[in-house]
Amino acid sequence: MTVSSRDFVYGKFSDFYNASSTVIPSPSSLGQRELGFLLFKERIMLRHRVFARISDLRLFLGEAVPSDVYRSCAYYENPEAEMDKKGWLGADLVFDIDADHIPTSCNKIHDKWVCNKCGFSGKGITPEACPVCDGQKFETKTWACDLCLESAKDETAKLIDMLSADFGFSDKELHVFFSGHRGYHVHVENEAVKTLDAMARKEIVDYVTGLGLAVFGGEAKGRSQRRRRSRSFSLHNFGWNRRLKLGLRNFILNATKENLTNAGVKRNSAVILRNKELILKRCLEEGRWSSVKGVSVGTWRKLVEYVKDLESSKIDTVVTTDTHRLIRMNGTLHGKTGLKKVEFPVKRLADFDPFEEAVAFKEGAVKVFVSEVPEFRLGRSVLGPYRSQTVEVPTAAAVFLICKGRAQVAS
Ligand SMILES: [Zn+2]
Ligand SMILES: [Zn+2]
Repeated sequence: MTVSSRDFVYGKFSDFYNASSTVIPSPSSLGQRELGFLLFKERIMLRHRVFARISDLRLFLGEAVPSDVYRSCAYYENPEAEMDKKGWLGADLVFDIDADHIPTSCNKIHDKWVCNKCGFSGKGITPEACPVCDGQKFETKTWACDLCLESAKDETAKLIDMLSADFGFSDKELHVFFSGHRGYHVHVENEAVKTLDAMARKEIVDYVTGLGLAVFGGEAKGRSQRRRRSRSFSLHNFGWNRRLKLGLRNFILNATKENLTNAGVKRNSAVILRNKELILKRCLEEGRWSSVKGVSVGTWRKLVEYVKDLESSKIDTVVTTDTHRLIRMNGTLHGKTGLKKVEFPVKRLADFDPFEEAVAFKEGAVKVFVSEVPEFRLGRSVLGPYRSQTVEVPTAAAVFLICKGRAQVAS
């Protein structure tokens, strides 16, 4: 980012944090939370800060103008103390759903990564380790489009359904946020989850992601044993059993040859395609898994694995198990987009529009030189594609493009 571009974004962030119309909602028990700030120019993280009142924080934000504002999911006796002296009192249960961790149809098109060590590069989701040199640091260039955010929304919907239907949390206990960039955050605030340790949170993560789920009673040894077990097995109507039952029904009803091939069922796909209704009735409803010739328990295992993957929620597992995690604060700006993190009611998930409702800068237009961007939508405007050209765009789009490293203020 050039100095003039950085100063421009800094100026906009400063306007935002100093405007009387800006609302920063206070998290619950603000005085027990650790706050952290990333500073624009210095690029350093200020941590272990505490504010008794939201008005004090507002004053601080107006003066310091950080690029990113974070607060702990945890509650502490002394949020200002060093990590091991804080006096951990508990933490909200937090989920992060980010396009970085979802195999979207668009990430192969607009996300790139380059290995810092050997320079090897690729498209799509950044790997955990470089396939050439095993290096683990990457330079990434991502984009945020409607498709990314729709995929993240689908994963969020599955998560919320599990938290409501399987765990029994009420809409009041669930807080849903657009992260300000490529995903959503879900916070559960409830006394029962507050003091769960990292291990207990890992169990919840495993449930949500379907890790270790054994449906057909693990590995069967003898053939007859397998048959006996498969005959007596039925999916009940709670939790993952219900999810798999509904998921399998849906999948089979709508399955094409290609879908079945993707699920690893190739040889007997014709049998399934010809006998959909019969299979649903005998196998899924009556639990007679091997009663249709050509559809074995082995086939069901493959289908269950595939449907499990479709029904699980692709959360960032590390975030949920970290009981000291700092997470972006609601109402503040994201340094990589200039969009706000915003909360909305659980019931609005389906029609929430991040590119409209998270826009912070609604006035004016700015001339920028854009390197390369696909067509995109922000607020009411559809812009681009642009390639090495100077254009005048609405302020929100200018901030977005500069923050994403795709444009500079035109001189
Ligand atoms: Zn490498
Ligand atoms: Zn996308």
